[in-house]
Amino acid sequence: MRCGSGALLVAVILGTGCGRAAGPPHPPDPTSAPSASPHDSDSKSGKERLPAADREEGDWWVGESSHYVIFVQKRARNGTRESTEHARLQELKPRMELLHRKYSLAFGVHSNPEKKASIRLYLDKAAYQAAGAPSGSAAYYIPRTQELVAFEDGNEGGTHVFQVLCHEGCHQFFDLAFPGFYERRDLPMWFSEGLADCFGASEIRGGDLFIFTLSGLAGGRIEVIQQAVLARSHPSLRQLLEMNRASFMNGADLHYAMSWSLVHFLWNAPSMDAGNGAYHGVVIRLIEGLKAGKSGGTLVREAFQVNGKPINLDRLEGEWEAYVKKLRAKK
Ligand SMILES: [Zn+2]
Repeated sequence: MRCGSGALLVAVILGTGCGRAAGPPHPPDPTSAPSASPHDSDSKSGKERLPAADREEGDWWVGESSHYVIFVQKRARNGTRESTEHARLQELKPRMELLHRKYSLAFGVHSNPEKKASIRLYLDKAAYQAAGAPSGSAAYYIPRTQELVAFEDGNEGGTHVFQVLCHEGCHQFFDLAFPGFYERRDLPMWFSEGLADCFGASEIRGGDLFIFTLSGLAGGRIEVIQQAVLARSHPSLRQLLEMNRASFMNGADLHYAMSWSLVHFLWNAPSMDAGNGAYHGVVIRLIEGLKAGKSGGTLVREAFQVNGKPINLDRLEGEWEAYVKKLRAKK
């Protein structure tokens, strides 16, 4: 389940069979009004979703925002004051809401699932691992329980845990908004992971969250894909688009990096990170296609078009390679 290089390791824990995820029974209503303030009413139930006051439950601080229930571990007593842990919870709540707004915009989903998304943040690595975390991971999402689990002990180096949450939170959002998505056998891994990585490559500037940037986890991905492009050791674009989960995970470092770079390229090129690129419509059509339940060749054929004409994938691969060589991480 390793899917990153260096300090960044993210994972999605999937069942060996289908039918394990238990999503809300009905898909959200796409016509519901956007939810913009923490005090908006729930568009489905009409009930207020007022955040409850923070509370202590055993080894956890528990706090709620409009869309999340967040658990922050009370670290084993090692000199850290509890106020630090509570501060971590208070910091996470507005950040996750900021992120939720980005997901809502990107996926065109503005109604609330029936239950809030759950996040569990460990501050103690041993406890995180003892609770069943995949080896080498910094965070993972469990479709069966729909919980996002992460750990942060201040020794991560490089990528901040929030960026890993941005990646895994993307899986969680999609799973809650489109129940059963991760049960699909034909899940396009390159797009699911590449898009999640584009959320992970995020930065907070001036109180706003910017996604699809060249900072955060983009640094590690750039290093890997540039080496592969120079060495011509990456799969062809067509092979990546058709890759199943087993093949994708067998060579995960390269495939994650290639997928991130491809989605980033489609969204931004010819600019490096200004968005609204020549192929950004492909990303939008892929999201819409997945929401409509399309898959495989149909999904790709309908998405990879410009002005209604199919994109030549060989030519696109050449453009993507040239783009990759120009990528520079932002610190
Ligand atoms: Zn992922």
